[in-house]
Formats: sequence, structure tokens, C-alpha cells
Amino acid sequence: MAHLLIVEDDELLRDGLSAQLMQAGHRITLAEDGHVALERLRTESFDGVVLDLGLPRVDGLAVLRGLRERLPALPVLVLTARDGVEDRVAGLNAGADDYLTKPFSLQELQARLQALLRRANLPAANPSPTGPAGSGALRLEVHPPRLWVGADAVDLTLREWTLLDLLMRHSGQVVSREDVLAAWQAEPGDTSGVASNALEVYVHRLRRKLAGAPLNIRNIRGLGYMLEASGP
Ligand code: CA
Repeated sequence: MAHLLIVEDDELLRDGLSAQLMQAGHRITLAEDGHVALERLRTESFDGVVLDLGLPRVDGLAVLRGLRERLPALPVLVLTARDGVEDRVAGLNAGADDYLTKPFSLQELQARLQALLRRANLPAANPSPTGPAGSGALRLEVHPPRLWVGADAVDLTLREWTLLDLLMRHSGQVVSREDVLAAWQAEPGDTSGVASNALEVYVHRLRRKLAGAPLNIRNIRGLGYMLEASGP
């Protein structure tokens, strides 16, 4: 059971979501606008949030930014209007973990939400670079660039290291292709630049190197990549 905050101004949809998620065994708190949502977030603690972006008083993006400042790891599923590609991207950039486009089925929403809650509870989903090097623990070493998986080292190129570091710091969130290219360009001494279509090749190579690690780099079509914990 999780305590969920549903932020939606459409009363019919709000009640539908509430009924569905209560039936799934969750405890539900409702907010009908952004102002109320921020108030609830300040006074109660939640395991996850379903957030409509188009809200009266304080819009969903502002709510998202506000909550991310204090609650960086709280799973947030954003609801966007049909054809709202810009909304979707803005939502993900503001820290949403996933999105659904209206209209959607309640089953789909429940499945996505369940996946977010599960991911939030996986310890490997938030590997810490300074964490203990216990069995299976993940640790990124800077010099030389490599990933420790328990007692096993995976050697990385600088580019692979930068890519993995970026993905690990945003574990469970979408990292856009532009973000990766920008991170690479920020590397000292890198003047060559990387064609956007070469990124696919680097990701493919990194995936192969990570075959023994409990990590999975997911392709989020049209948006970028997401690092997820996989298996034990
Ligand atoms: Ca709305």
C-alpha cells in the first residue's frame, strides 16, 4: 500500500483515479488545484504523486518544480493533454519520472504507477558513488574511469564514464540525447564533438559492458535514455 497524492482539476477524472487506486489498495489524498497540492505536499508525506499539468491557480509544472526542490526522489507521474509534446518534455525536464497522455486507460495508469513505486524501492536504482562497496554494490571510480560491481571492475572510456555518471545521477529519469551530448562537450580537452547518431553506438557499447551489472539502459523513444535497476 502506498500513500498517493492525486492532483487533477477534472472532477470526473479525479474521482475515477481515486476509486481505481483505492481499489488497488492505496491510500489516496486529493488536490483539485496546484495551490492545494503544494499545501498537501508541505503537510503530509507521500509515496507517489499523479500530477495533471494543466491546473488552475498554480500550474502543474510549477508544482513539480516546487516539490522537486524538497523531494528529489518522490515518484511523479505526469498527466498531459493530447498532442502536448512540449508539455511532456517540459514535464520530464522539470523532474517527472514518467508521463501519460490523455485519454488513457486506468489500467495503464495503474501499471505505470506500480512500476514507478517499485523502482523507487529498489536500492540499486539510486547507486551512490560513495556508497559501501558491499557485494553487488555499484561504485563509479573517476581515476581510472571504471565501474565497480561488487568486487568486479568494468573499465570504461571517458565518454562511457561521463554517459554512465549522467545516467546514474538521474537514475529512473529520462536523460535526453541533448543532455548527453552537452555533458560530453563539457569534458576537458574534448574538442572533437560527437554526432548525435553516434550516441546510439556508445549506448550500445556501454550496455554490453554493463551486461554483468544489475543495470539496464532503456531507450525512451523520441526522448532519450533511462537507467533502471534490473534483476537482483
Ligand atoms: Ca487539467
